[in-house]
Amino acid sequence: MFDFHMHSTVSFDGIDCARDMAEAAAKNGLREICFTDHLDYNTDPLTPQNLFTMEAYAKAYDGLEIPGLTIRRGVEFGLTEWNREQMAEFLSRRPFDFVIGSVHYIDGDDPYDAEYWQGKTVSEAFSRYLETTLRCVRAHRDFDVLGHLTYVCKSAHNPTHEPVLYSDYSDIADEIMRTLAENGKGMEINTSGVDKAGVFLPSADFLRRFKELGGEIVTVGSDAHDICRVGQYTEEALGMLKDIFGYVCTFESRKPIFHKL
Ligand SMILES: [Zn+2]
Ligand SMILES: [Zn+2]
Repeated sequence: MFDFHMHSTVSFDGIDCARDMAEAAAKNGLREICFTDHLDYNTDPLTPQNLFTMEAYAKAYDGLEIPGLTIRRGVEFGLTEWNREQMAEFLSRRPFDFVIGSVHYIDGDDPYDAEYWQGKTVSEAFSRYLETTLRCVRAHRDFDVLGHLTYVCKSAHNPTHEPVLYSDYSDIADEIMRTLAENGKGMEINTSGVDKAGVFLPSADFLRRFKELGGEIVTVGSDAHDICRVGQYTEEALGMLKDIFGYVCTFESRKPIFHKL
């Protein structure tokens, strides 16, 4: 009934327009959604900037209404170690309901692409991603949840197609999740890993530990870029959260709202 991670054509890689995405959400029985378009400010000239204009954002979402569906306005900000100032400047331009902080680029490469995997073992590829994620969550404060932790494993270029297991990376995973919990940040359960790596991003083992470390805020999102995936596996993710936390969060004006499951 909630999908707090989706992209429209406002995002550089979105397929379907905002109205079509929202209509698909209503048709799939969702009650509340949040658009979270990509905003990647990369200071490294070799890494692409994936940005949108405020004009395009306002045109797509201001005035978009679907009966029976609550539509929130958010952003998925690509965290790097060096773009905290750009993030603050961007977020001052208009109010948002929700900000996902995601790590998309490691040393200039997106793990989604083949280049990232060249010359690395799977263990090195996973470790490098987690080390970069830790540096990013330490460098930033102005986001609400960390997006798709363990994103690296869903890449088609992951030679084993195995997920990241908490037990194999517990030290660094604990550091990431402890930093989030201490700073009052949440964790997203991203359902886009189910078809590609057989797991939520992150999986239940991470979420149980996040709770033990004091984490309280958890959201669910499909990361749909087209109408076919809107709300996909979000019911299953809520089932998992029901067992671990007993609730899920949505956001309005950057404040979490807790929904008992
Ligand atoms: Zn992302
Ligand atoms: Zn996304």
